[in-house]
Amino acid sequence: MQERGINSTFKKIIYESSEMVFLADDTYPYNIFYANESFEEFIGESLKERNLVGLGLDINAYIFKEELILTHGDKDYSFRLELPQESSSNYFLFYKGKEVKTHGLPGKREIQQFFKNGLDLIAIGQHDFLTYLNAAVKPILGYEPAELMNTSLCPYLHEEDLEKIRSFWKSKRKQDELGFFESRVKCKDGSYKYLEFSVQFTAEYFYLIGRDKTEFYSESVKTKRLNQLRKKGSELARVATWSFDPESSSFEYDAVANLIFEKQEDLKVNFENSFSEKLTDKRSEKKLEFELLESELGVVAEYHDAIQGTGFWLGVLSDLSEKKNIERSGELLKNILLSSPDPMLVARPGGEIYLCNEEAKKLLGVEENREFEHLSDLNVLFEESDEWKDWIDIPANEEGSRRFSTLLISNLGKQLTLEVAAKSLQEKEESFVVLSFRNISEKVTLEKTLEESSDFLMNLTEQVPGGLYQLVLDQNGKMSFSFLSRGIASVLGLTQTEIEKFEDISGAISRVHPNDLPQVIMTSVASARKGEPWQCQFRVKDNSDSEGYRWVLGAARPQALENGDMVWYGYLTDISQQKEFESKLDEARRTAEKASQIKSDFLSMISHELRTPLNAISGSVYSLLQENPNTSQKSALNTINFAVENLIIMINDLLDFQKIEAGKLTIEKAPFNLRNLVEQVMKGLSFHARDSKNDLQLHLSEGLDMRVNGDKTRLSQIMNNLITNALKFTHEGNVDVSIKLLDLKNGRAKVYFEVKDTGIGIAPENQTKIFNDFDQVKPTFSTKYGGTGLGLSITRKLLNLMGSTIALESEVGKGSRFFFELELEVSDQEVQVEKPVIGSTQDFSKLHLLMAEDNDVNALVLGKIIKKWGYTFDRVGDGAQAVEILKDHQYDCILMDIQMPVMDGFEATQEIKKNIDTPVIALTAAAKLEIMEKIEECGFDGFVAKPIDAAELLKKIKEVISEKN
Ligand code: ADP
Repeated sequence: MQERGINSTFKKIIYESSEMVFLADDTYPYNIFYANESFEEFIGESLKERNLVGLGLDINAYIFKEELILTHGDKDYSFRLELPQESSSNYFLFYKGKEVKTHGLPGKREIQQFFKNGLDLIAIGQHDFLTYLNAAVKPILGYEPAELMNTSLCPYLHEEDLEKIRSFWKSKRKQDELGFFESRVKCKDGSYKYLEFSVQFTAEYFYLIGRDKTEFYSESVKTKRLNQLRKKGSELARVATWSFDPESSSFEYDAVANLIFEKQEDLKVNFENSFSEKLTDKRSEKKLEFELLESELGVVAEYHDAIQGTGFWLGVLSDLSEKKNIERSGELLKNILLSSPDPMLVARPGGEIYLCNEEAKKLLGVEENREFEHLSDLNVLFEESDEWKDWIDIPANEEGSRRFSTLLISNLGKQLTLEVAAKSLQEKEESFVVLSFRNISEKVTLEKTLEESSDFLMNLTEQVPGGLYQLVLDQNGKMSFSFLSRGIASVLGLTQTEIEKFEDISGAISRVHPNDLPQVIMTSVASARKGEPWQCQFRVKDNSDSEGYRWVLGAARPQALENGDMVWYGYLTDISQQKEFESKLDEARRTAEKASQIKSDFLSMISHELRTPLNAISGSVYSLLQENPNTSQKSALNTINFAVENLIIMINDLLDFQKIEAGKLTIEKAPFNLRNLVEQVMKGLSFHARDSKNDLQLHLSEGLDMRVNGDKTRLSQIMNNLITNALKFTHEGNVDVSIKLLDLKNGRAKVYFEVKDTGIGIAPENQTKIFNDFDQVKPTFSTKYGGTGLGLSITRKLLNLMGSTIALESEVGKGSRFFFELELEVSDQEVQVEKPVIGSTQDFSKLHLLMAEDNDVNALVLGKIIKKWGYTFDRVGDGAQAVEILKDHQYDCILMDIQMPVMDGFEATQEIKKNIDTPVIALTAAAKLEIMEKIEECGFDGFVAKPIDAAELLKKIKEVISEKN
């Protein structure tokens, strides 16, 4: 101690001091070389030989401090440090040592230091305003401590947190205790920081420590959010977690698991049944992975050995149904493509086939079992190989599809035209080309045919004479040509360039002849209104002749379109030549008509002129025959008579023919007895038969004795004709006339007529000819047999008018058979029985007649006939005289010629009939219909044709007189 300059007094003081005192070297490591008794008592052991460094005291840190703390054996002791005053001294004195109450608590200065420089915000306040803030307020919130001093805490807290803090403040302050709260605190720059506070309330003060937890807070918000998302994600992916305790054999699930199980009730049972045993048994395996196929669940399990032997399984459960569905739909899509009825193929960009359906194989001619792996396998089918490369040379992601047309030779050697549609497809980094094929061979052929037929039609349109057009009338009433063939130009006399501008209808109209325009317009309007075809002949301007017009025929058929437009498809054709021809024809027709009229007039005139002399001849022969001629005279007279009769028949035929030609012959319908009529005709011809040395026989069937309605005159004429011909062309043979009743019902009788002879017959080539007008088998016949060749023609025409046809069977040298059928109405009227002339009550032995006849020869002949009958007569030369003489003379009957000078027979009879009712018989050579009608109109009682048949006249005279009485 001496060497350190410590005197004994000081030493004694130290030694006896009740406080703890010790001394240490002032050099490292500061050995404690002396400690008093109290020190050792307090500390409980001697610290001699120990040093301050060894006790954990850094003396340098205390050089300027008055007090230092020595820690030893869990206790702190405070000492004051006395640095030596003398330079010679080399020790440190530690004195006033005492045990510090709280272990580890720093001294006041440290604490203040700690307060001021602490990293956390430390504040002291009263009620709710601040009285102290440490420097940490600056780095944390940006305020200087002085700025916040004596201000209220509230404005700095986030208003959303304020309410909560207020109630916390109230509840804690009273209890004088420690509390915690969190709040967002407003920084000087206006932003907020998240601070975690602990607050200690005392009776007067509150002590607040705040820690910046902003980072932690945002981190925790992030974590929270992330967990939410994770949950959502696992919900979406349907991945759940579960745990299994093998001891209790119990499962625990998270919410997603419940969601999965919610779907199917038995799923959970299924899962637990299949796993509980396995998990209990296979703990040693640590890790298991399963797929519950029927439940569509994927399971991964891990065994965790918490404490030896008491572990548990943790696992993941995923719902595979979605995945399976996707797999299934993938499979389905693939199958759809494979079984598509359209040929389809999917290739990779290099040309390898990824998928190819059967239809495509079939179309491309890939044999059924042959592998089809690469498009280059198709090379044999192309004319140019590698054509397939174009199909797949498509940039990935190209919008739309590309189309190709390719010629292929199928394995059957047939040439096909294929349409290939190609589209690129990008699927998860993989590229494909989808190809679909269509066999368009038929379409191509059809298009070609169409094109050809369209060319053909176009050609036809151009080549046909005249022109074709299409005219449209739209809803606004505008008419325009939508098509004009080239021919139109030539019909309208326009050039090709003119026709191209020729759209509007007005152009066409301006070319029409003004006189024809109204008709063109009217017919067009009518066609449009009624939708009927249009046809019109009109003239159009002729460019080749500035003055002239050409005739055009236009025809069109209208069609109403759905949009309301009307379209005409039509043609125009030049008919100028036809028109010219027509006008010539017209002229010729007029000339012919005139000639025919002349002919008719001539015939009428000639027959009249012929009848008059014939009348004279016939009358004369008749009277000569009455005067007992000798045999040779009689024969001569008979010859004349034959000739005259023939001539009369001829003239009658001619007149009939003319009448039929003029359509003026009508078939009467009056009741008559059929049988009587036939017998009458036969009777009339019996002389003729005898004369021709033929056997004429009539064969009548039953039931012909009946009344029918018909034209008895014309029927007799027909039979007469046929029988006369038969007699004429048969020599010493048979002529058989057969009439049969074929049918009788509904008031109608079907009757068969036949005239059969054994005469010369008619050659087949003449059998139709003989029914023609004026036709005879041989021209020489007329000289041999007489006749005009009109008889059969008239017969045929008459039968036609009666609704029947004549038929003929004949063989040369064997004979002929003419036959026909007639349908006659059975009459319910009484047949007008002809008044029995002979044997009636009337006395016809003496009659007084008036003859009005201008022709002296006729008058002479007629006079002679009358005298032969034993009657008397007066003759007048014209009608006027007849009227005159009748004023004071009476006659039984008047015979009135028609054609007379001064007053003709018609006028005279009309005059006569005004006053008296004496019967008047017309004597006429003209048998023309109009004369017949006029005869009836004028009041004649009957007529007899010239040349006069004496017997007929006598019969007529008796008839008309009997009627009057
Ligand atoms: P024609 O007045 O000349 O007899 P028809 O028209 O009655 O005129 O007859 C025409 C021709 O038909 C006759 O000329 C004759 O050649 C022939 N023909 C008519 N009937 C017979 C018949 N029964 N046998 C043979 N030939 C006949």
